[in-house]
Amino acid sequence: MRSIPYGRQDVSAEDIEAVVETLRSDWLTQGPKIGEFERVVAARCGARHAMAVSNGTAALHLACLALDLGPGDVLWTTPNTFVASANCARYCGADVDFVDIDERSYNLSAAALRDKLLEARRQGRLPKAVVAVAFSGQPADMAEIAELARTYGFAVIEDASHALGASYRGHATGDGTYADMTVFSFHPVKLVTTAEGGMVVTNRDDLAARLRRLRSHGITREPSQMEGEAAGGWYYEQLELGFNYRMTDLQAALGISQMGRLERFLERRRALAARYGELLDGLPLSVPWQAPDRNSAWHLYVVRIDSARTPRTRREVFDALRARGILVSVHYIPVHLQPYYRRLGFSAGAFPVAERYYEQALSLPLYYGLSDGDQERVAAALAEVLQSGA
Ligand SMILES: *Cc1c(COP(=O)(O)O)cnc(C)c1O
Repeated sequence: MRSIPYGRQDVSAEDIEAVVETLRSDWLTQGPKIGEFERVVAARCGARHAMAVSNGTAALHLACLALDLGPGDVLWTTPNTFVASANCARYCGADVDFVDIDERSYNLSAAALRDKLLEARRQGRLPKAVVAVAFSGQPADMAEIAELARTYGFAVIEDASHALGASYRGHATGDGTYADMTVFSFHPVKLVTTAEGGMVVTNRDDLAARLRRLRSHGITREPSQMEGEAAGGWYYEQLELGFNYRMTDLQAALGISQMGRLERFLERRRALAARYGELLDGLPLSVPWQAPDRNSAWHLYVVRIDSARTPRTRREVFDALRARGILVSVHYIPVHLQPYYRRLGFSAGAFPVAERYYEQALSLPLYYGLSDGDQERVAAALAEVLQSGA
């Protein structure tokens, strides 16, 4: 029996041709395709600057470094995310704390953030930055988060690894209205892929210059940025400790070609999500809630298996679907429950909404190439498992 993954890239003949053409060119590493890819993504987001990097995790790390996050600082994020959204602060020697999620959107709760900020101000331990993740492709309450950022003086990094092409109150994700920096991932399961790859977009010139430098060892060839005199055409200066986080031109060529199909990708995902709503209607589970003021990029389609409505546990449903070749997944194990974060002092019960959500969550297959027939197979299997058991 053919299995159906939960996510999968779509690579066309044109994508392959674009990569092969770059292989025959003079540039394999960071060359002209990088700038072109950055311009394409910046234009789609409505951002002034875009910096391509080697992966989404590197993008988050550089975003933290550009804010001078370091020892003694705290970064807050949601527990319902991939570990990279929190790890980026640890790379800088900063502490991490979490804000519980909203019961309906599964995103960081703006109300919980407001309460936690009040308490943190009393204790003199306000965050320097908050990473707001657009979970499953739907932006968080960015206007409220941005307003709190102004009040309390923290920076906002939007982790939009799931949300290329999403929008919030008519603003494209990444346009800089609500976040200082927005980060994307181009991992194969995401909206658009470059195999490995990531990007930071920002409207702030200061952050853009810093990100560009940090991506390449902390080195500048810009005379205006140098501390000494440019001694000649060969001269460069390392101004700080940066990294080699560059993307290759091969990856950028793939990214440019993929971006040409982004609207089609988004449309198909949106249609599949709407169709799941119809196919799953009447089953004892909850389908994703969509806030009326935002458009999701539909990276994930998460249902909740609620023990109050079905005798089947999430574990049983997961195993039974997997046995039928339907490779469902779970997003996410709350980050604070990972052994690494437990050793830093977090424990079960700290973020109860995220923990309860995690017990019930199941990600159904959702990707551009998912056929109507395969989607029906998923829905039928789910109905069978929920109603008659494994
Ligand atoms: C995929 C992902 C990342 C990391 O991206 P990579 O490109 O795999 O490094 C970070 N945050 C979230 C929410 C992600 O889904």
